Amino acid sequence: MTIGVIHADGHVAWFDADSRSLSRHVQLGSILQFAVPAYTAPVTRIVWRIEGAANRRGVLNGVHLSDQHESDRSNLWMATIYAGFGGLALALLIYNFALWGALKYDFQLAYCLMLFMLLLYAMSSSGFLAWAAPGIDNTHRMRINYLTLAASAAMALLFARTYFERRVFEGPLGRITDGLAATLLAIGIGIAVLAPRWFIMLDLMFSIACVALIALMPIIVWRAWVERSRYLWMFALAWTAPIVMASARIAQAFTLLPWNFWLDNSTLVAMTVEALLSSLAIAYRIRLLSAERDHAVAQAAVDRLLAETDPLTGLLNRRAFLTRAIGRAGCQQLLLLDIDHFKTVNETLGHDGGDEVLRVVSRVLRRAAGEGALVARLGGEEFALVADADAPIDPVRLLAELRATRMPFDITVTASIGVCTGFLSSDVHWKKLYKCADLALFDAKASGRDRVHVVNGLAVAA
Ligand code: GH3
Ligand code: MG
Ligand code: MG
Repeated sequence: MTIGVIHADGHVAWFDADSRSLSRHVQLGSILQFAVPAYTAPVTRIVWRIEGAANRRGVLNGVHLSDQHESDRSNLWMATIYAGFGGLALALLIYNFALWGALKYDFQLAYCLMLFMLLLYAMSSSGFLAWAAPGIDNTHRMRINYLTLAASAAMALLFARTYFERRVFEGPLGRITDGLAATLLAIGIGIAVLAPRWFIMLDLMFSIACVALIALMPIIVWRAWVERSRYLWMFALAWTAPIVMASARIAQAFTLLPWNFWLDNSTLVAMTVEALLSSLAIAYRIRLLSAERDHAVAQAAVDRLLAETDPLTGLLNRRAFLTRAIGRAGCQQLLLLDIDHFKTVNETLGHDGGDEVLRVVSRVLRRAAGEGALVARLGGEEFALVADADAPIDPVRLLAELRATRMPFDITVTASIGVCTGFLSSDVHWKKLYKCADLALFDAKASGRDRVHVVNGLAVAA
């Protein structure tokens, strides 16, 4: 590249640069700057000649003469924009990566990769890389630009792919999305490896792939709408900015729109908006996911409760009772209670009345049991109570309470209780203790009912 700055008196200041020495002239925003030496006559014309440029859009757009103040202002503006984006992207990256560590959803990782690639792209395309490493060949910078932008676009597709419910990408749409992501990556790698060879063709392919990406996003949104995705609106909102701005840039490429500073930097602005809104979309999705999980946990608790309780009385059922009773530490007392002449109760009150009596008896038992005891309905009109041997449970008083409790139609209900004490650390212990208490209950029934029979001494030694 040769630039000639022509002064009014015919004096010409010449500047030469090739792709290697170009980086030293790169300012923030990838603006090339050459210092024109002070001269008495004013500048009337600037001419330039470029040979063998890989960049098919030309190396110099919007050439003009500016003073130091304008140059400083431009760098400051660019630094502000890029630092804003860099800080935002870095914070979002660290935050979302940490969140991924905790929640492990694929879309979080895709989002982090997209942000990481965008950060690299911003560092290279902004000219920051040329400031940090002035010796870098400008062509290398272009390679990095293409590679990181292509990778960002591919990761954006991966994000969409993992963000929505699986059904949204079923069929050809999933294959097209995967194919486009792979194509973008392949073109990016192709340019990185081959540039500046076949550059015009590869750049054209890259542009076409970007247009395809922009065209695909509304299709994905439409499909998500058809499939009634619950994450649609957040996603559509996040992608509106890149789609609008990319469309404007495409219009600009086809000279339908004039060059404009903001449009020229719109990739970054669009990506900033997209990154920010995607982060909100992630928060929204996690909110729905955790609501789902809370619901499932609550449902599981309800299911467990239903599986463990006797539906008529709300007491533990036999299975849950055994699971909890066997393995209790220390000496335990087992009370078996059987309602006396319950068949007669049923005959007098009917089956529903009998049920009500069972409920009332359950309440009396529950109250007498106190904390730390297990109360179960073992079946029919037989109940069991397990408590520590030294728990203050008085079966005689329990029977008195039962007798005094008001029953349906004011009938008197009595019961017989067998009590035995022993250890409950295993299945074998349970069988022995139950047999002992059952024999005690049999004795209570045999000796006239409405009484307690206690077997003294341990049924089962430790
Ligand atoms: P005993 O004093 O010897 O215990 O006599 P019983 O009549 O109480 O004893 P038995 O075991 O002969 O009868 C128990 C009755 O309990 C028979 C059955 O119809 C009734 N029963 C079992 N389950 C239920 C139930 O869920 N609801 C009602 N209402 N009755 C039940
Ligand atoms: Mg009975
Ligand atoms: Mg019975």
